[in-house]
Amino acid sequence: MAKAVETKEKNDFVEGQAYYCPECSRTHTKGKIYKEHLKYAQIENNGEDLDPDTYDDEVELIEVFNESEDEERIDEMEIQLEDKEFNEINENENDLKDCFEAVKKLPGVGEATLNKLIKAGFNSLESIAYTPPSIIKEESGLGDKTAEKLIKASMAQLGIGFKSADAIWEHRKNIARITTGSQELDDSLGGGVETGSVIEFFGEFRTGKTQIMHQLCVNVQLPKEKGGLEGRALYIDTEGTFRPERIIQMAEGLDLDYTKVLKNIVFGRAYNSDHQIVLIKEAANIIKEKNIKLIVIDSLIGHFRSEYIGRGTLANRQQTINSHLHDLLRLCDIYSDLAIVLTNQVQAKPDVFYGNPLQAAGGNVVAHGSTIRVYLRKGKGEQRIAKIIDAPHLPEGEAVFSITESGISD
Ligand code: ADP
Ligand code: MG
Repeated sequence: MAKAVETKEKNDFVEGQAYYCPECSRTHTKGKIYKEHLKYAQIENNGEDLDPDTYDDEVELIEVFNESEDEERIDEMEIQLEDKEFNEINENENDLKDCFEAVKKLPGVGEATLNKLIKAGFNSLESIAYTPPSIIKEESGLGDKTAEKLIKASMAQLGIGFKSADAIWEHRKNIARITTGSQELDDSLGGGVETGSVIEFFGEFRTGKTQIMHQLCVNVQLPKEKGGLEGRALYIDTEGTFRPERIIQMAEGLDLDYTKVLKNIVFGRAYNSDHQIVLIKEAANIIKEKNIKLIVIDSLIGHFRSEYIGRGTLANRQQTINSHLHDLLRLCDIYSDLAIVLTNQVQAKPDVFYGNPLQAAGGNVVAHGSTIRVYLRKGKGEQRIAKIIDAPHLPEGEAVFSITESGISD
């Protein structure tokens, strides 16, 4: 391993050079820092002496989760996605094979190129067509020209180009939605949380953001006629507020077998903003395979806010959030039956003297990145009020819902 170079700012990373990580007192190589960090974190935590050189670099997302510190909590959730007997939800294996086959058939894709693409998570025509060439180049190691050619060919095969509005209407009419558990909130969202969009719930502390996230993870598993998508949820927790106990209460509220419900939630605790970004990048590899229909990030910018205080400029932070949001939006483009929900904190807006002085954190970058924004505030007792702030097709209505022991309801 290359000699350690003491660097204080993460922005000082130089390609190929080793980086001394003060957090785990080890040397990481740029690009591998996250996995390596986790690996060492595990060694430190469990006292297990793993030889880092023999460690398999191709760690699956699920393994990353298992290595996290919250082992107790994860044990409780019994994530055994590898164990097929639990999976009532179909595995879409044939779909996945078809995707690979389509990529294989692209002009100029030989064995080596195919391997690079698959390894970097570009395992479908959609994932290639909707990704900018610079990102394909960076993540797969393919050349500029090859990336551009592959994108063009994928677009041509998918028939991406101008469409007539009635084709868009046909698509939107059939858009799938997840019920929130409250009819009123569903109505104000146009029938529930829609797929193909990034929906942001923002509000002050204890306004129910995390509760809605939990409820959606349960509801996405419901049959379609009951407001679900018959799929799994991927929960990225940046604040350490995920509670399987709440999932159990909500599952029981719907007369569901909570052990199955827990098993269908893939959980990842993001320890810092870099880790959060990597989890989303790795998520792309398991969406199809694990039939994931909902991604939750609770909360989107908490880590960014705290970390960037002593690190880089605001512009720098906004740029990173922007590219993270684009990763999310791209997932929606690639997987049209996937819904993405995120929570956001509010910050005081000092220059507002009348009206609501609170606004969502992250400024315009987050505002423009989310398709629909919902502002939550407290009502009487268990009541909460949701206001649709910014949606391309919904009126700015208000909905009242409640948070009870069995979850979100009217
Ligand atoms: P935040 O917006 O900060 O994420 P939460 O989603 O954690 O807020 O909401 C917390 C609120 O949810 C609590 O104030 C309480 O009203 C409600 N809540 C949490 N757990 C339960 C429960 N088991 N039974 C009833 N209400 C609950
Ligand atoms: Mg919360």
